[in-house]
Amino acid sequence: MLALVYDGTTRLESNSPEPRPRAGEALLRVRRAGVCSTDIEITRGYMNYRGILGHEFVADVVSAAKLPAGTRVAVEINCVCGACDMCAGGLANHCRRRTVIGIDGRPGAFAELIAVPERNCHRLPDSIGEDEAVFVEPLAAAVQITRQVKIEPRSRVAVLGSGRLGLLVAQVLARTGCRLIVIGRNPLTLEFLDRKGITAMPLRDLHSRFDQDFVVDCTGSAEGLDIAMSLVRPRGTIVMKTTCAGSTPVNLAPLVVNEVTLLGSRCGPFADAIAMLARREVDVASMITRRVPLARGVEALRDADDPRQIKVIIEVATIGSA
Ligand SMILES: [Zn+2]
Ligand SMILES: [Zn+2]
Repeated sequence: MLALVYDGTTRLESNSPEPRPRAGEALLRVRRAGVCSTDIEITRGYMNYRGILGHEFVADVVSAAKLPAGTRVAVEINCVCGACDMCAGGLANHCRRRTVIGIDGRPGAFAELIAVPERNCHRLPDSIGEDEAVFVEPLAAAVQITRQVKIEPRSRVAVLGSGRLGLLVAQVLARTGCRLIVIGRNPLTLEFLDRKGITAMPLRDLHSRFDQDFVVDCTGSAEGLDIAMSLVRPRGTIVMKTTCAGSTPVNLAPLVVNEVTLLGSRCGPFADAIAMLARREVDVASMITRRVPLARGVEALRDADDPRQIKVIIEVATIGSA
């Protein structure tokens, strides 16, 4: 089958072996997939991952134990053991023995077929289109913030970074009615926010202010934390969404002096994200700026790294081809 792999270089494989589902796994035919900044980070060495890329996707069931063939699903990316202390304690996303689709120890979705644990599959309502469905995974990650901290209408919240994740986080947090500002570099995405009625500010206009209750770092760069520390109020909270390869020294003294809480935030609840998309509470479709067939997948990854693009979609199967 056709697959986009990273093995030191990003390349298309036309004879990638078809997955053979193991016990408890469903075989899926991928329809569309989204390119995420994490995919780009992996090609720069993040997670030391080698294999088929891609973890944001919509697919049809080919074969499964319970789900009928043809069922359209979104898939949770953490594949867990169900037996370790984290799984037993209700923190399965932190499973000690987890593999993560297209990120850690398990092939990804930039391929015609993928095998995944059946219990990771979420059936999608018809009201969610193919394009919207690709955003379930990153939208769930945005929703996770509201599960971790209590954001109220009087909260002052700054989202740092107006990239793909920043735009989703901004839309989710805007729904809390909080006093929200998004700070970014890219005029294209700042305009997107303007059109949504969300206050957006170019990074170059920013001054230290130390007045935000919450700062969410979605910059994807190591300097994000530095900026966040100059925005958050004493005893405020910085939520870190950034994962990036490499390390840059950061002076953490402001965290100590201002008694700031630093909170990591990763994957989130799929059911909530699916419900939000079904109710049209966030606009994801207009974030798509480019579509590329899987056969030109290398190009898709390169495009997704271009600031003139927001979301790049890889078309794997055209409708009706399954
Ligand atoms: Zn992602
Ligand atoms: Zn486990």
